[in-house]
Amino acid sequence: MYLIKDNVFSLITGRTITQGISMESEGKFSKEYFKAVALIEMNPTDVSKLGIRDRAKVIGECGEVVLPVKASNDVPPGVVFIPMGPWANFILSSITDGTGMPTVKAVRVAIEATNEEVTSLIDILKAVRAKSLERIPQERPIKTGEKKVFEDVPCPFCGDLCDYLRIELDGERVVRNIGGCAISTAKFLNYHKDRVLKPFIRSGGRLVEVSLNEALEVASEIIAKAKYPLLYGWSNTCNEAIELGVELAEVTRGVIDNTSTICHGPTILGAQEVGSVRSTFGTIIQLADLVIFWGSNPAHAHANHYARLVMSEGKYVKGRKERKVVVIDVRRTPIASMADLFIRIEPGRDYELITALRMAIKDLEIEAKEIAGVSKEKVLELAEMVKTANYGIAFIGVGLTMTGAKHRNLQELIKLVQELNEWTKFAIIPMRGHYNVSGANNVDLWLTGYPYAVDFSRGFPKMIPGVTTAVDLLSNSEVDAALVVASDPVAHLPRRAVEHLSEIPVVVIDAKWSLTTTVADVIIPTGLVGIECEGTAYRMDDIPLRMKKLVDPPQGVLCDTEILSILLDKVKAKRGVV
Ligand code: SF4
Repeated sequence: MYLIKDNVFSLITGRTITQGISMESEGKFSKEYFKAVALIEMNPTDVSKLGIRDRAKVIGECGEVVLPVKASNDVPPGVVFIPMGPWANFILSSITDGTGMPTVKAVRVAIEATNEEVTSLIDILKAVRAKSLERIPQERPIKTGEKKVFEDVPCPFCGDLCDYLRIELDGERVVRNIGGCAISTAKFLNYHKDRVLKPFIRSGGRLVEVSLNEALEVASEIIAKAKYPLLYGWSNTCNEAIELGVELAEVTRGVIDNTSTICHGPTILGAQEVGSVRSTFGTIIQLADLVIFWGSNPAHAHANHYARLVMSEGKYVKGRKERKVVVIDVRRTPIASMADLFIRIEPGRDYELITALRMAIKDLEIEAKEIAGVSKEKVLELAEMVKTANYGIAFIGVGLTMTGAKHRNLQELIKLVQELNEWTKFAIIPMRGHYNVSGANNVDLWLTGYPYAVDFSRGFPKMIPGVTTAVDLLSNSEVDAALVVASDPVAHLPRRAVEHLSEIPVVVIDAKWSLTTTVADVIIPTGLVGIECEGTAYRMDDIPLRMKKLVDPPQGVLCDTEILSILLDKVKAKRGVV
């Protein structure tokens, strides 16, 4: 199929704000989520060249989907964009090239005009052999009455962990979120919707409601009996729960991996090779006069970030007027129009541009007229900007980690930033997605010496990217059971990995119904950290913050730490560990 050259495009996937809002307000089974995620953006010239009316068939290495087409000049000719989610993952390969990270940006796909039906979520779940499509969502009962106001509440959604929200409650109903972005507001105001409120086990193919003790008994049996279980997720819960997860992995001689394996894992691998130069939000607000967003789209994925870090007035830099902004991306993202310099780069060629910049700052001659689709003049302009900044910060996104070069991009970028510190001060902060993915890395690191994909099969911790990483373990059918905590791998892992989850026993601990509940054999409800449960989380700049409890969890529902403590005790007893 890749031989039909006129039909071959470079696929980019990424987060969008409508995806986040629809997921938090109505859930992933809603029409709103379908409308936000099941679509493909193409340049209008490509749409007419292929004779596309309103939909297209997208053919990837592992499958094909039919999607509605949105014509957009933000996407250059030859490039297409699909929001991250089940439709994109369904067609993508699970091969990670020994890194643990599948390639989900700058991937070649074939595209054809079609009149076939748009692929539904049900089509995808059936194709990956979900155990059933049954779900029993409930609204958490809410008592209204006493008016309460909580100040300085950290937002439990993205890695910015904005800790200045004012949350107003009418009894247990959240009525107002002041300071939070649109996704944060959707999360707080709808925290009671689409909830798992009762424990379930799968029996005869159906979900059967059971007591919490019974669910924990079956869950512990599955995990204790497994020869090599995968304990996955952890980025949407607190550090205290992650600590228990590490102990559970050690007791079961399994693997604990977190979602960084499919986002900033390559950033961590790059830093392991060459070190890093980090900073904190406080330092950036006070000092940074140059802000670079490279392969990240904060307007959609971290909606308060620009106002907080770029517009804010610091002691030495008086807000946006004294701060230059550079955006480097494949697409014209919303912040590109707010930047002093926008550099449109060709998909998957970041490494070349970084290398050229390293040459330019050392005054080495660049012979090529164009590098990665960027003119030599623009490269020199950018080199001058980074060299003359008093304090520069590069916020790096998954645009750098998810293309073919993966951690090599990051190694090269870190070297560039290290070299820039010979002239000036410069630092890097990865734009972390889930609110505590940074915590998941830190907890794993301080307890085991490794930040993710930690394998205890030999009785001591080890990490081998491409071997002990979740996508590889699942795609290679290595693990024989899975515990999924506060995560939705069926929505975010490539097809082959999801298919293996359909083949093994799966325990899910989550507050809301997810696509992963369709492959679960045990579902245990939990309280939402940051709303119903307390705990510690790490912001993207590795600053720990205390997550607040605003209301009690629903009746009969425990927090992750309590559930995992009981589960750990039961598994220890079954495996004869004292
Ligand atoms: S930017 Fe992120 S942490 Fe801040 S309010 Fe929005 S979703 Fe929450």
